[in-house]
Order: sequence, then C-alpha cells, then structure tokens
Amino acid sequence: MPSEIIAVNKLLVIPISKSEFAISWEFEPTFLSFDNFKFSLEKSNAPHDGYEFLANISPKSKSYIDSDVAIFKFWKSYYVRMRIVNTATNESYVSEPATVEHPPNLEAIELIRRCKISLENPRYGNGVPCKIFIRKEGGQRCTECFDVIKRRSTKTNCINCYGTSYDGGFYEAIDAYFNFSVDIKNMGVSDIGNATRSGNRAITCNYPIIKPGDVIADTRLNRVWTVSGEVQNIERRRHIIKQVLSLEEEERTSILFALLSRKAS
Ligand SMILES: [Zn+2]
Repeated sequence: MPSEIIAVNKLLVIPISKSEFAISWEFEPTFLSFDNFKFSLEKSNAPHDGYEFLANISPKSKSYIDSDVAIFKFWKSYYVRMRIVNTATNESYVSEPATVEHPPNLEAIELIRRCKISLENPRYGNGVPCKIFIRKEGGQRCTECFDVIKRRSTKTNCINCYGTSYDGGFYEAIDAYFNFSVDIKNMGVSDIGNATRSGNRAITCNYPIIKPGDVIADTRLNRVWTVSGEVQNIERRRHIIKQVLSLEEEERTSILFALLSRKAS
C-alpha cells in the first residue's frame, strides 16, 4: 500500500555552463496528493552534513538551475538533495545526496557554449525557440484514470495524463532552441542510419536532457512533435554537448495539442 511520504528516485546534476548546474528529478510513483507537501533543494560541500537551503521548487517543474556555482573551483564538493515535507504532519523526507556524475570539463563546457550560440544567436543562429515538455515517469498517479486496484490507466484518451498514468502527464515546459534543418552527414553521426524526411529530425543543446516520448511544441507555428526512437547524443568527455532527435509530428486532433496552451516554467 502507498506510504505516507513522497520519495525521489532520481536526482541528476549536470553542468550547463561555467557557473550553472542543472538539477533535475523524478519521483517515485505515489497515490498521495502533491498539494499536501512542500518541496525544496538543499546544498552542501559534503555528502552527509552541512546542508543549507538552496531553493523552494514546484513538483510540476522538472528541474532547477543553480547559477551560483564556481564549477572549476568547487565542483568536487558540490552536493544537493531534496527535502519533501508533509504540511499536515510536518513529517520530512530527505533524498539521497547527488553530485555531478562526471568531472566538469573545460572543453566540454566550451563546446556547449558554442552549441548554444549557434542555435540561439539572434542574427546567425539556426535554431528556433520551442517549448519542451518532459514526460513524467513517476510522481502522483492520474486522478482521472488510474485504477488503484488494477494498477493501470483505464482510459485511452485521458486528457489529464495523456496516457502516461501520472497526473498532468508532462512537466511544465522548458524553453529551448531547436534546429530542424539538420544535415546529418556533416555532423559526424552518419552511423545512426539514413536520414528520413528532413523535417523529422532536430538538434538541441544539452538542456534539458530529452528522451523518447517527450514533446516539443513550436508555439509560433502551432506545431507539436513527439520524440520517437532513441536520442543520439554527441558527447565530449562524457558530457552531452548536443542531442539529435527523431520526431513524429502530431496531428491537429491529437490530445497532445492541449500542451500548447500550457505556460513555460
Ligand atoms: Zn489519466
């Protein structure tokens, strides 16, 4: 049976610039209402003590960017954890501490910076601003369609969870730039197979980390795509620099079009 606390199953820290770490999370599945809990991040120089408050967060968002990090001075002593407090009982849960998976690397950070410029530069950039909706893989079960006894979703076109079985289906949108006119041959990734229709691929930088099932919306064109197939990462020293996505465009009748009206986080 469900326990009375909400737990985090994954806390991930990735460097996105010389001074920024992106901290992202996923929750364990639960039947508890997230409305009855408060969520915050804490950071420390040591894994097991000295934690101080970093920020309150909303469980509707996927990640938080800590822009107060001197990465090349202090990354060895960067730890973060999530605290979740039941507002009725004051009972508190603290996640396992997380730190960067791989040592931040100057060359990788520089390549990420250049990737961002080539996408986002207002004059010369080849990217367009879009909203990315990360699909939930945990958290509060859908209140509309999830059957507690059968332990599965009982509707096919649930407009609350979009078939994910988790409340809301997707995290709040993150703004990111995508290049949809990808020339695969010039990217050194020709081993990923033949390019299909050109409009079906896109490149983005390393934030947020994207997986199959996530949704990209171009609100200016009113178009929505789902990420299909594996995401191809271009890495340097184990850091993701770029992500190459295969996309499937959604029909206008798709329930995923409802995501267009959601605001960015
Ligand atoms: Zn549902």
